[in-house]
Amino acid sequence: MLDVTEDAITTALAARFAGITGAAHVSADPAKLQLHSEDIWARAKCPALLVVAPATTAELSAVIRQAHEDGLAIAPRGAGASYTSAYVPASAKTISLDMSRMNQVLAIDAHAMTVTVQGGCTWAALNAALKPHGLRSPFWGPMSGLVSTIGGGLSQLNAMFGAARYGTSSESVISLAVVLANGDVLRTGAGLPGQPPFYRHYGPDLTGLFCGDGGVFGIKAEITLRLMRTPAHEDYCSFAFKTGRDLLLAMAELSRAGVASEMCAFDPGLSEVRMKRASLAEDFGTLRKVVAKEASLYKGLQNAAKIAMAGRDIMEKNDFSLHLIAEGRSAAAVTADIAEAKRIALTANGREIENSIARLIRVTPFPPLNSILGPAGERWAPVHGIASLSAAPQVFEDVVAVFNEMAEALKQAGVSAGYLYTSLSTNALIIEPVFYWPEERFSVHESLMEKTHLARLPSLAANPEATAVVTETRSRVIDVFARHGCGFFQIGRSYPYRESRDAATISLLEGIKSLLDPAQKFNPGVLGLGGGGEE
Ligand SMILES: Cc1cc2nc3c(=O)[nH]c(=O)nc-3n(C[C@H](O)[C@H](O)[C@H](O)COP(=O)(O)OP(=O)(O)OC[C@H]3O[C@@H](n4cnc5c(N)ncnc54)[C@H](O)[C@@H]3O)c2cc1C
Repeated sequence: MLDVTEDAITTALAARFAGITGAAHVSADPAKLQLHSEDIWARAKCPALLVVAPATTAELSAVIRQAHEDGLAIAPRGAGASYTSAYVPASAKTISLDMSRMNQVLAIDAHAMTVTVQGGCTWAALNAALKPHGLRSPFWGPMSGLVSTIGGGLSQLNAMFGAARYGTSSESVISLAVVLANGDVLRTGAGLPGQPPFYRHYGPDLTGLFCGDGGVFGIKAEITLRLMRTPAHEDYCSFAFKTGRDLLLAMAELSRAGVASEMCAFDPGLSEVRMKRASLAEDFGTLRKVVAKEASLYKGLQNAAKIAMAGRDIMEKNDFSLHLIAEGRSAAAVTADIAEAKRIALTANGREIENSIARLIRVTPFPPLNSILGPAGERWAPVHGIASLSAAPQVFEDVVAVFNEMAEALKQAGVSAGYLYTSLSTNALIIEPVFYWPEERFSVHESLMEKTHLARLPSLAANPEATAVVTETRSRVIDVFARHGCGFFQIGRSYPYRESRDAATISLLEGIKSLLDPAQKFNPGVLGLGGGGEE
């Protein structure tokens, strides 16, 4: 009988994948396995067996077919810029499917107004490719878009750029090419097989089935988004509010009015952290971009000076600050939207403040991911709920109540927190508490942050006690959101999706899962499907 060791099996498996992708794109390097087995929030109990990186849809399909034959689970990973245990292995017999080589913009069709990208293409690369054509997708990226991928963004859905007007990432998608567990490629949307996709709807919405699926139904190999001409005009306004309730009432009315393309707000806690992290006045790179954006050098310098001087001033106030961007085809339309935004915010007890932050958000939409550690090297983790416009103020108050109940434990553990608020189209608000706590960083932090920024931060020691307090508070906050019937993006293995669905929905989801992935190998445990892997 042959003595077949674990190592020999892994080597044999690696060789089979190397036959598809080339040996350089299959890795059993322990550091790489570790990196792919942790996210910004948590580490997997066991590392992945191999990291495999295909470059084309054909290679991806062959890799998945091979993994299927070998009985391996598959954990797709875009940039790894998430924090809900969504792509980490659930068992040792898992390959991490590294989408970073599938990063191409495949076709821009300015006549048909479509763009097709590979699933691992970043939002920043998409926007850079579209810019010379004066085009963009309606939803055009999350703030992590420098590295985060369009495939990852559709699998767990995104908020931010364009979202206040056009909704989440999935609402800009026309068609997907999805690789199923048996290696078949399924193409969604209207049009005949082999023809370029141009429109989403023809019969049941199969594109929607894979949006927000956390990668449990298949792997997004190619994605077609619709395009629009980039609005020629934009303007900004910012407001301060005394309470979170006033802020949310104002955001709700601003959403109903549909005046913003983006809206985001910070509570005093988050503003304080942002100020500690970096003085805007010192950020010459950003200020240079502010100057460059204006046609007139004088106006550019004036705006940059305002940011340098007033940015600190705004953020030191003990207020909730709201930053709104309006865009449009004509200056008059944008002026009218800004005027209406001011009227609404002032009526809702807001006070107008310098619009520097709103302006900065548009100047550097995709900043380096240096905010994933706090200003003193602390760990960072957001948690969120999507609330209706009417429910948001009460949801917020109930979340605050959890923080009040946990206040002493949080203080003892050295945990601080803040809130981020954003909006989705004319009908939803996102409330996003953010934790900072003293705890050691992971290799995923080191891989995502700028080396120069990282070098300025202390390396903290392991602190399981503080993490336990954060974990408990996070879970109680999720319970509050869930009790109010909030929706969640980034469900992963952190939010109670399956538990909150009715029997008919669960039965449909399980039926689809067993049809598309009968051996339950894609991201087991994500969305509560496929068993195993829960936190
Ligand atoms: C600093 C920072 C800022 C952020 N800002 C925002 C923001 O403004 N708005 C927002 O919505 N989110 C934001 N996020 C959260 C996060 O970056 C996004 O959810 C992002 O979409 C994750 O993309 P990713 O490529 O890193 O996906 P990953 O984290 O790698 O994966 C996410 C999920 O998608 C699956 N997946 C990945 N690629 C594929 C594929 N091709 N096919 C099938 N499944 C796949 C994974 O298995 C996993 O379940 C932010 C995060 C950070 C760290």
